Amino acid sequence: MKETFRAFRIEEVSGGFVGAVASQRLEDLPDNEVTVRVAYSSLNFKDALSATGNRGVTKRYPHTPGIDAAGTVAASRDARFREGDEVIVTGFDLGMNTPGGFGEFIRVPAEWLLPLPPGLELREAMALGTAGLTAGLCVDALQRAVHPADGPVVVTGASGGVGSIAVALLAQLDFEVIASTGSESAGESLLALGARRILERGELSAASDRPLLSSVYAGAVDTVGGRTLTNLVKSLSWGGAVAACGLVGGADLELTVYPFILRGVSLLGIDSVQCPMARRQLIWRRLAGPWKPKGFLARLVTEIGLDELDRAITDILAGRTVGRLLVRVNG
Ligand code: NDP
Repeated sequence: MKETFRAFRIEEVSGGFVGAVASQRLEDLPDNEVTVRVAYSSLNFKDALSATGNRGVTKRYPHTPGIDAAGTVAASRDARFREGDEVIVTGFDLGMNTPGGFGEFIRVPAEWLLPLPPGLELREAMALGTAGLTAGLCVDALQRAVHPADGPVVVTGASGGVGSIAVALLAQLDFEVIASTGSESAGESLLALGARRILERGELSAASDRPLLSSVYAGAVDTVGGRTLTNLVKSLSWGGAVAACGLVGGADLELTVYPFILRGVSLLGIDSVQCPMARRQLIWRRLAGPWKPKGFLARLVTEIGLDELDRAITDILAGRTVGRLLVRVNG
């Protein structure tokens, strides 16, 4: 194993945070059981927050972000993993306060590792990454409450990572999917992924004092939060459900109890970060097999190198990216 490796590091400087590829020493990685040579990572919205000094995500700098990593075990003190095993790590503390997947090596607790499921390559696993796991958890929760015959389901932030994968998964499961997006360029790709129609983002974010709105949707996957989530809950038909995972549009939720007690709707909270391993395995097995999003890799994945992360972080924060940004680390 090399003693040094490349990593995209964020430094705190007077007046802000700057990112650049730098050399790191293997011996400076945390003393965890398993060292992984990272083949691919991916850029998520949360990585961009970590890279720009958001203390809710990362407390200490300098820091290597990257909440996702897929690669090969390089060394292990845990009997469950051996050199050469292909593994996925997403969430937990990776890339938050533990050096993350934007480095050629990570060293993590064995409990965070998931063996790469048959049917997926490392590159495909990171094209999905945390966004794929989160979309999978949303769809799994939603389909317990809502069936395709119940009516249309909306996906918000549909051109983003979680949103675009949720569109593909729900369409494959025969749901009538409405893709809500603010992106003018993403419409064609979302229709190709299986969305029946496109809804302009602004239509779901109007302010309203009414406790209930017209029943329009059987269900939703919401990555936006704030007023969008408020309006979705108010617009569900009887027995409908929203799987809520994101907050790109705001963290507040102004609701009365009426949607819940007059329409029996459900608000399903989704967290992929601390999601227990058994549940992760179930979702990853589906993503590798029956749910594998067809056409997604070709259509909505852009591959970048560590040197291109700085620009990509600016773009994702400005809402200029479409689909998933796959990061080639040692691939
Ligand atoms: P992306 O940046 O890839 O996608 C977010 C999408 O939201 C954008 O592409 C855009 O889609 C839309 N959007 C951006 N800004 C706004 C805005 N101001 N108002 C309304 N819509 C906006 O992010 P991810 O897919 O990685 O993550 C989406 C959300 O889910 C984030 O809040 C993230 O923190 C959260 N998340 C939560 C997880 C969990 O476990 N709970 C795990 C992973 C992510 P469009 O142009 O199509 O409208």
